[in-house]
Amino acid sequence: MTKEQYADVIVDISHEKLDRPFQYRVPEKLLGALAPGMCVAVPFGKGNRLINGYVLSLSGDCRFDPGKIKDIAGIVKGGVAAQDKMILLADWMRRNYGSTMIQALKTVLPAKKTVGRLEHKYLVRLLGREEILSLLGESIRKKQTAKERLLRELAEREEIPYGEAVGSLGVSPSTISSLEKAGAIRVESQRLFRNPVKLTRPKTQLPALSAGQQQIVDQVISDFDKGERGTYLVHGITGSGKTEVYMQLIGEMLKRGRQAIVLIPEIALTYQTLLRFFTRFGDRVSVLNSTLSLGEKYDQCERAKNGEIDVIIGPRSALFTPFPNIGLIVIDEEHESSYKSESSPKYHARETAIEVARLHGASVVLGSATPSLEAYYRARKGEYGLFTLKERLTGGALPQIHTVDLRKELKEGNRSIFSRKLQTLLAGGLERGEQSILFLNRRGYAGFVSCRACGYVMKCPHCDVSLSEHKNGLLICHYCGFQRPKPAGCPQCGSKYIMGFRAGTQQIEEKLKELFPGVRTLRMDGDTTKTKDSYEKILSAFAAGEADVLIGTQMIVKGHDFPRVTLVGILAADLSLGAADYRAGERTFQLLTQAAGRAGRGTIPGQVVIQTYQPEHYAIQRAAAQDYEGFYQEEILYRELMGYPPVCHMLAVQIFSREEEGGKKLAGQLAQWAGGLGWEQDSKEKGMGLRIIGPAPGAIGRINDIFRFVFYVKHENYDKLVQIKDLLEEKLETCRPLRESVQFDFDPVNVL
Ligand code: ADP
Ligand code: ZN
Ligand code: ZN
Repeated sequence: MTKEQYADVIVDISHEKLDRPFQYRVPEKLLGALAPGMCVAVPFGKGNRLINGYVLSLSGDCRFDPGKIKDIAGIVKGGVAAQDKMILLADWMRRNYGSTMIQALKTVLPAKKTVGRLEHKYLVRLLGREEILSLLGESIRKKQTAKERLLRELAEREEIPYGEAVGSLGVSPSTISSLEKAGAIRVESQRLFRNPVKLTRPKTQLPALSAGQQQIVDQVISDFDKGERGTYLVHGITGSGKTEVYMQLIGEMLKRGRQAIVLIPEIALTYQTLLRFFTRFGDRVSVLNSTLSLGEKYDQCERAKNGEIDVIIGPRSALFTPFPNIGLIVIDEEHESSYKSESSPKYHARETAIEVARLHGASVVLGSATPSLEAYYRARKGEYGLFTLKERLTGGALPQIHTVDLRKELKEGNRSIFSRKLQTLLAGGLERGEQSILFLNRRGYAGFVSCRACGYVMKCPHCDVSLSEHKNGLLICHYCGFQRPKPAGCPQCGSKYIMGFRAGTQQIEEKLKELFPGVRTLRMDGDTTKTKDSYEKILSAFAAGEADVLIGTQMIVKGHDFPRVTLVGILAADLSLGAADYRAGERTFQLLTQAAGRAGRGTIPGQVVIQTYQPEHYAIQRAAAQDYEGFYQEEILYRELMGYPPVCHMLAVQIFSREEEGGKKLAGQLAQWAGGLGWEQDSKEKGMGLRIIGPAPGAIGRINDIFRFVFYVKHENYDKLVQIKDLLEEKLETCRPLRESVQFDFDPVNVL
């Protein structure tokens, strides 16, 4: 008897209820013809209706009654619908991040194209801005308000999605067609991946690489040609030539018939950056971003599959571009938290890129001015190659940095948001007609409480992270649930100035105008930049000199160069330091370094003022000294002491429930299971073994009437955490909570 073969087939990935593979027998005619990823037709359900599915894996074991198992009907013509590598990747993600196979497949496979592409239309402006403005004047006179709204937008933008015009702008189709008849616009169905560079433009001469740059290219390529595929970290300040290195490496890969993926955080996907890639590689490059419709994303994937493009640039999800033979994956600004997915599977692009690279035999290059502790730790351990680029190739001296002790300001009678040093420098800049940036660091702000007189921060005695103030006056630790009432006076110095920090950009703008009447300001924060467009608008207005001072949150520290900015004021460096998670120091260092890098890009040297209540904190001191290595040494010590990543791994188990009590109970039960199951041998191994922290109410305890609880499991060995996750999943499978759901998050980047 010939050996029987069975296939696990996942059917119709759009159906959550069918989230498990179904086993089928491989009929004789198909023996040897099937491989994971292939699209097959299988009989399904009572009526044995034929539906399509993907082969996940093949095996010789039958898990069902061999008499009842159905046969695969055949291979679906028209080729492989999903690359087998994608299926393998999805399976890896499911295992390592804890999600359903369906969720993982949906993440890695391009969504099916919606019928037709008609719904994706654009209004394209045909007239110049002046003519649009005169039409606008006319519509204002005639009180045609809808037309007026549309024309106002058209004055600023050359194209507007049709959906936006009839949606948020509230313009009727008849108004649109009247403008079309008047020749002001054209309605187009458009494909977005046009190359913005005129192809007639001659290719510019490639710059000769600096010695440091050349060394990186040589090493990566010679390893590649020897068949060694590695992960490399390029630690280089902004302007040190990292992008140039990426482009050279991409060029080498293209010569070898390979494709490249370049990940750039969406916020840093500026026109300037894209232009460099387009100029270099012409229409072999494509861009993926969140403004593309599903249909357009699907088209991009098709082009990648068909070999019409070789390079894709985009955020996290560009990682799943179905190129046939990837040679290089670049992750720029590797430390950015946007590389971690916030929905299931909660994957990190860095590790996932390394897995994609493994499947393709590709190399991975990570770049950052302030590498994540994870990447630097791995590099120091020799798991990644490490390169450092120290010089700024664009010239421009590094700025001078002043740290101002806000406790001293208070003691000496200055209660303003602006220190005296900052006031003096602002006044000087205004007088000379130079620009300034005021940066309010609100990231991770979760209501921590500190002392204005001595800088003391209320922390959890068990977890060494800041406690968060809640409405009921309690201070809570979001890791372990520890709580205590807010003290009336500072435990360290007795001062009554112990309080949460509350200041918004709007308040800063008002105070600035009180101090400097007539100052021209622009404000940029979550409120003023609801769309990517408004973000660009504010930045270009500032670049064009339309304001003296730009006030903003962390958004302003990325991307654009402002040569006329000579002063950066960091108003409350402590805000991110007070974030209630263990990455507070790392984030603060990154933000301060980036913000400082905004000053003095032009010919005039820059000044940076860091205002803080904790001038002795190493994250602040090392940022002021622009000393990454020194920061790393101190930070990694803290992580080691407390058992935080990257030294340990952390699995967050989140429990969502409609009932507070039920959620709490399930969280407790799961935590107990996780802690109690067969870890005796752990104590024999060196290291600290397994630790359970919590459960505690989530950082936001309730959203939309769903209560949230979380507990953390720590262990040095990632695979142990995966085992625990599997175990908990099994338990959940048997106890089947009705009103609760559970999500896993490995090495979470945010407080949950
Ligand atoms: P990063 O990505 O590290 O910020 P870039 O690659 O953008 O750095 O380089 C900064 C600037 O220096 C760019 O304007 C780039 O064109 C220029 N540049 C990069 N490498 C060289 C080089 N080898 N010679 C001359 N100019 C260079
Ligand atoms: Zn105090
Ligand atoms: Zn705690």
